[in-house]
Formats: sequence, structure tokens, C-alpha cells
Amino acid sequence: MTCKCICIRHKASRGYANGHKLCNYCNLFIKWDELWCPCCGNKLRTRPRHSKYKAKLRIKKQKEKQMQKAQNKNSNIILHAQ
Ligand SMILES: [Zn+2]
Repeated sequence: MTCKCICIRHKASRGYANGHKLCNYCNLFIKWDELWCPCCGNKLRTRPRHSKYKAKLRIKKQKEKQMQKAQNKNSNIILHAQ
């Protein structure tokens, strides 16, 4: 396996939450729909390696859910008030 630097063209900001994947071989986050790195052919990581980051990701998702719930509640209240 060799890095052909194709991955740099698909470079993404760091973060699994946005659907970005990490190539362990190129050591780069890329925006790519396939499971395999377009560059070196290595399998891409879609989830954090450390449980610490997993927990962070879970908390982030929970917060987003809560926000959505709160927003729904608010819109319900507005509907009832009218
Ligand atoms: Zn790669």
C-alpha cells in the first residue's frame, strides 16, 4: 500500500460526526462515501478509536436530539397559543 496523495484532494475537517472518515495509513480525515481509501486502498475508519471520543460523540448526538425535542415542544406551544 502506498499513499498517492489523492487523499489530500478529499481532505476534510476533523470529525467523525460529520460523516468524515479517517485513513490510518495516510493519517488524514477525508470526505469519502466508500469504505476504502481512494488513495492507498486501506480500510477507512468511520468511528473513533478511543472510548473517550466515542462518549464525546454520543453526548453530542444526545444534545442534538434534546435540542430537536425542545424545538418541537416550543413549536407545539406556539400552535396551542394561537
Ligand atoms: Zn489512504
